[in-house]
Amino acid sequence: AKKNGGNNFCFSTPDQNMEMDRKFQMELELKNALASDEFKIVYQPLINLKNNQIVGVEALLRWKNKELGSVSPIEFIPILEKTGQIIQVGKWILWSVCNQMKMWQENGTYLERISVNVSPIQFKDKKFVQDLKQIINETELDASYIELEITEGTILEIENVSQTLHDLQELGVKVSIDDFGTGYSSLSYLKQLPIDTLKIDKSFIDDLDMDGEIIVNTIISMGKNLRFRVIAEGIETPQQLNYLKKQECHEGQGYYFSRPVNDKEIALLYKKLQSK
Ligand code: C2E
Ligand code: CA
Ligand code: CA
Ligand code: CA
Repeated sequence: AKKNGGNNFCFSTPDQNMEMDRKFQMELELKNALASDEFKIVYQPLINLKNNQIVGVEALLRWKNKELGSVSPIEFIPILEKTGQIIQVGKWILWSVCNQMKMWQENGTYLERISVNVSPIQFKDKKFVQDLKQIINETELDASYIELEITEGTILEIENVSQTLHDLQELGVKVSIDDFGTGYSSLSYLKQLPIDTLKIDKSFIDDLDMDGEIIVNTIISMGKNLRFRVIAEGIETPQQLNYLKKQECHEGQGYYFSRPVNDKEIALLYKKLQSK
């Protein structure tokens, strides 16, 4: 601890102070972000690795603030979680995404699925399923087009996870396990819970360029044997793609195909791939 005049003791380094300031400023700016229309959603294609068609998209949140510029969700989502704002923002995301899917359908862009990330805080909110149901009713989107992405952490941490997952299944939405393989959880839940999809974490796909094949092969064959859809995240190179195709991984996502883009670009990409 440094003594900096008077009786004020300062226990943090200047670096830590700067980080505190930024967090504090983000928290302040986030308070008005939704009302000020600072959030937008971008969409990253999910590609069927057998026929190279776009079968779906993952919705990803973006925040651009006049003071802070563009901030990564890695930075701001934890703050929304801490303040509880993630519940309100999460509802807005679900509503926007259902609405967007409906609009694509009206304009001839027929995707099988839209994937939405759900924070554990949102997932354990008592009204989560009820709110989702209302959004589905209001937007008149068929529930089967929606897939919610949760992590193994959510499965481990949340008490009523089994009940919520069964409620979601009854509602007709799908569930995928995001960042699969990074969560230190036992695999027994895979047989017990109603889950549709496993998304292999990008870190394992990165390792394919070295000698990470064994883990990826194991996840793909286990996933397929248990009747899950298996998606590889973060594909960046043709080598990674070829390998995943050889292993008959169902779907892929990554910069190799496309970065996350806006709704109009998804419609264009859909048309382009359709005509191939
Ligand atoms: P995630 O759900 O694992 O999302 C995948 C992240 O990997 C996205 O980053 C995406 O842009 C990035 N990515 C996709 N393909 C590639 C690739 O080939 N190479 C590289 N280097 N990166 C790739 P993004 O959009 O920055 O999101 C980061 C994380 O923030 C997400 O990880 C998710 O945990 C969280 N997040 C984003 N949007 C939302 C949201 O709407 N709600 C919630 N609760 N969390 C969100
Ligand atoms: Ca995700
Ligand atoms: Ca992921
Ligand atoms: Ca991740």
